[in-house]
Amino acid sequence: MDSTITITARGEQRIQGGHFWIYRSDIASGSAAPGEVVRVVGPRGRFLGQAFFSGRSQITLRMLTSRDVQIDRPFWRRRVEDAVRFRDRLKIDASAYRVVHGEGDLIPSLIVDRYGDYVVMQTLSQGADRLQAEFAEILVEVLQPKGILARNDPRVRLLEGLEQSVDVLHGEVPEKVTVKEGQIEYDVDLRSGQKTGAFLDQRENRVAAAEYTSGKVLDCFSYAGGFALQLASRATELTALDISEDATALLAQNAQRNHLPNVSVRTTNVFDELRALERVGERYDTIVLDPPAFAKTKDAIPKAEAGYKEINLRALKLLRPGGFLITCSCSYHVNESAFAGIVLDAALDARADVSVVEKRMQSRDHPVVLGMPETYYLKCFVLRKLS
Ligand code: SAH
Repeated sequence: MDSTITITARGEQRIQGGHFWIYRSDIASGSAAPGEVVRVVGPRGRFLGQAFFSGRSQITLRMLTSRDVQIDRPFWRRRVEDAVRFRDRLKIDASAYRVVHGEGDLIPSLIVDRYGDYVVMQTLSQGADRLQAEFAEILVEVLQPKGILARNDPRVRLLEGLEQSVDVLHGEVPEKVTVKEGQIEYDVDLRSGQKTGAFLDQRENRVAAAEYTSGKVLDCFSYAGGFALQLASRATELTALDISEDATALLAQNAQRNHLPNVSVRTTNVFDELRALERVGERYDTIVLDPPAFAKTKDAIPKAEAGYKEINLRALKLLRPGGFLITCSCSYHVNESAFAGIVLDAALDARADVSVVEKRMQSRDHPVVLGMPETYYLKCFVLRKLS
């Protein structure tokens, strides 16, 4: 750790405002090796801390600490142990959960998810990637997993000039791992399932949604049944919709395995299906909307907003008075107040009076950084249709 990077006054302000990232445009001078840990100083030479350097990404620096401390293996081990201790405190009623959530655990761009005896990790910047072997060793020491899989296939790695690959780093990783979430059991394919295998960030919202579930239920964008399986035992009948045949096939299997005969699946486009259901006059008591991120980039925001409005409008029309809508957005480009505005527009167009029962976010094992609004990416509102 020798290189020093000087940042602009604007960059300095950003760090002092609690943000951990410095963009290329705020680098005044200095360079380093890809992924090196560097010293960061302000325009007048003031020491601001230490960071991961990236030679490729627009995010050039990712802050690690504001202190002048040794960043070595014991440093990383303490950070991993802290992250693990926090999850222990949460007393998570599931065998699958996030152990390290990047910046939220002060280990930028490292993701570690635990699936029972197995661990999936992702190193999403040059800095984290350079330390992959070290992180894997630390995880073996701290968690003693039977296997560690590096799921390094996300596209964001390309922005860092890193290759996409999926490799076993330790032990053995089976084709399928069984996960327990509350009373529900399901299989996860760690190598090719979405994200690291499942959508762990919605775990607590699924449990919360179950509280509001009764009667006839519609689960839109169901994937393998994250919501559907948790809700089914409180429903008289539940219909799950997903465009992917693989997802609905998995869901049907999962419903059988958990003895939930009231679940039926439909492989369909939610946008078309909601209109079709409205045409035939269907009504529901509980509806879940958990779409993929419609706005993956800033340019996509207007189209995304139209998409969110459309599905919320249709869902509110299909909802019986007194019914609950659990509506989510995982686009960090659409923040909470923007999302609330879209849902209000939808309610006005649907001529529905709606109250907000809960405003929720990603599960607590995916911590939000107070000074980095973009780390609050998942919004989940529980709404009640009054009339
Ligand atoms: N609710 C799930 C996660 C949903 S992820 C859980 O808790 O586990 C989003 C899902 O939406 C994916 O499975 C994807 O196949 C599906 N999807 C994307 N676009 C769609 C569309 N237009 N219609 C139906 N499903 C869609």
